[in-house]
Amino acid sequence: MRWQRGRRSHNLEDRRAQGSQSTRRPRLRLPVGGRGGPRIPMPTGRGGRMSLTGLVVMLGVAWLLGMDPLSLLGGLGGGGGPGLSAGVTPDVAMGSPAATSPAEEEQVDFVSFVLDDLQTTWTGLMPNYRDARLVLFRDATRSGCGVGQAEMGPFYCPADEKVYIDLSFYDELRRRFGAPGDFAQAYVLAHEIGHHVQRLTGLEAKVRAAQRRNPDLANELSVRLELQADCLAGVWGHQADRRGVLEPGDIEEGLRAAAAIGDDRIQAMSGRGVHPESWTHGSSAQRQEWLQRGLETGDFDRCDPFGS
Ligand SMILES: [Zn+2]
Repeated sequence: MRWQRGRRSHNLEDRRAQGSQSTRRPRLRLPVGGRGGPRIPMPTGRGGRMSLTGLVVMLGVAWLLGMDPLSLLGGLGGGGGPGLSAGVTPDVAMGSPAATSPAEEEQVDFVSFVLDDLQTTWTGLMPNYRDARLVLFRDATRSGCGVGQAEMGPFYCPADEKVYIDLSFYDELRRRFGAPGDFAQAYVLAHEIGHHVQRLTGLEAKVRAAQRRNPDLANELSVRLELQADCLAGVWGHQADRRGVLEPGDIEEGLRAAAAIGDDRIQAMSGRGVHPESWTHGSSAQRQEWLQRGLETGDFDRCDPFGS
């Protein structure tokens, strides 16, 4: 790709310096309970019902302990717990993060450039487009969808309209998934911004509602949503190509990356067999096909895996 170095996007939110502190529990002893380590007091009013003051105190204590108060609320309703809330599908699982380096700073310049190029493109294609933000983090961070962890891979959170990425994912993409190249990396961001476009069009909300109504179809609907995000990534790639951003070999890098993170390929790598009924993102062939469709046509209307 032909890209400009040395500029940082104003939509970048750099939380790398925080490490995983934002989600790590500080060693804090509460003056209540005592035995068995810190414990959340459950302030209840008369009859066992929690008073409003009690609730506020409890959420405050949860925050001090480094917990996500919302996940705690979810936990009170039965279930819940740490991790992303239902309806958010992390895109690829991955391993441990890398140390900072000049190469990583160049990587930040690169994602800045791609983010701005993506959003300038979508602003031109969609009258009601509004920018998403990109959060860079290490290990773990809070998101509007619960605690995001590096192992989940990059993801988009519709609740706060932010894309989250631990940049060490790109090492994984290159080494473990065998998909090197700058356009492969750009495709990953373009896919996440594709999810943002789905939120703005209202499709994401419709699909999540349909999944709640038809749990049996949840995976199938998820696959279609993901394939559309791949196609939307291609629509951006088409526009970038017309503006002379792409170089020979870039399209192939993107297609190789799409195949590398297909559900069948990842399941085969895990050595636990390939189970199409459990897919959430689509096979390597499907992901390539939909990315290619976007790349070739550059046409939003051709990106409809739900239509047929
Ligand atoms: Zn996705």
